[in-house]
Amino acid sequence: MLYDAAVIGAGPAGLTAGIYLARYGLKTVILEKMFAGGQASTTYEIENYPGFVDGIGGPELALRMEEQARKFGAEIKYDEVKALTLKGDIKTITTAKDEEVTARGIILAMGAQPRELGLKNEGRLRGAGVSYCATCDGAFYKGKRVIVVGGGDTAVEDALFLSKLAAGVHLVHRRDELRAVKSLQQKMLSNDKVKIIWDSVVTEIIGEDRVTGVEIANKKTGRRFEMEVDGVFIAIGLVPNSSLVKGMVKMTDEGYIITDENMWVGIDGVFAAGDIRQKPLRQVVTSASDGAVAATGLQRYISKNF
Ligand code: NAP
Repeated sequence: MLYDAAVIGAGPAGLTAGIYLARYGLKTVILEKMFAGGQASTTYEIENYPGFVDGIGGPELALRMEEQARKFGAEIKYDEVKALTLKGDIKTITTAKDEEVTARGIILAMGAQPRELGLKNEGRLRGAGVSYCATCDGAFYKGKRVIVVGGGDTAVEDALFLSKLAAGVHLVHRRDELRAVKSLQQKMLSNDKVKIIWDSVVTEIIGEDRVTGVEIANKKTGRRFEMEVDGVFIAIGLVPNSSLVKGMVKMTDEGYIITDENMWVGIDGVFAAGDIRQKPLRQVVTSASDGAVAATGLQRYISKNF
């Protein structure tokens, strides 16, 4: 099946691109390997997306975007992209279900995923006390002791969310100042259930079948201590999901795709949008904006060339 546009990834960038492309009258498919919404759907509450005065849950916002894309005629396929070609007039995408999708243009919107700490037991105890998604797994920690690692918006939001469920939450941050926006910091600092362990890093995750504790080291004093916990929520930033197109498009050393202001990657008919892109601010609102700009660039390319 030949589409005008194929969008890879159904996060806010991909779904917004889908809404715009479909409204431009282009035959559009969005390919998603997991669920709509990307990182946004793992966020408990989004307070800074304009129009939602009291905030909106990440999953709800994602579902609304998905519904909107479908309403305008974008097709959404739940299938993983395994390989693709970017050069030439017709791009080819091969999926895990062995389907071949062809399109005149592509928008790369695969987003980013949580960064790992890189500790020895981290992978083995993933899902058994180690989590990268408080909203997904928080319910398992009702009345339990948890730590959150990180100092950005995600870590603070996770700590606040978990404070409603867990018996106690410690936030472990490697510096003496948080990176999260002030409004979130204030909420957390006035929450009695969240204690902050400053200037510290987790050096070991302890446990056989499940997490039973962590070792924490203070970076300033060198002091190490063990702490009994049932859950370790890791929120130390993101890594881009760009391995699929490694060597095919220009990227930063960290793997973020470099585009111009039209979201064009430098190959005819290929654009990138959202968290996968090198840019100064990664939020739902900037992803949506990227998606709209990329879709418009692709629409112009298609109307000029086909
Ligand atoms: P982030 O802003 O990159 O923050 C990562 C945090 O983890 C930083 O505090 C960093 O410490 C720490 N860190 C990084 N590597 C570490 C390591 N190896 N060991 C220990 N700590 C480490 O990541 P994020 O909080 O996931 O946010 C990602 C993006 O999503 C941001 O643009 C954020 O604004 C956005 N976001 C927005 C919302 C919202 O608006 N509602 C919610 C969630 C996320 P340093 O501070 O020392 O670098």
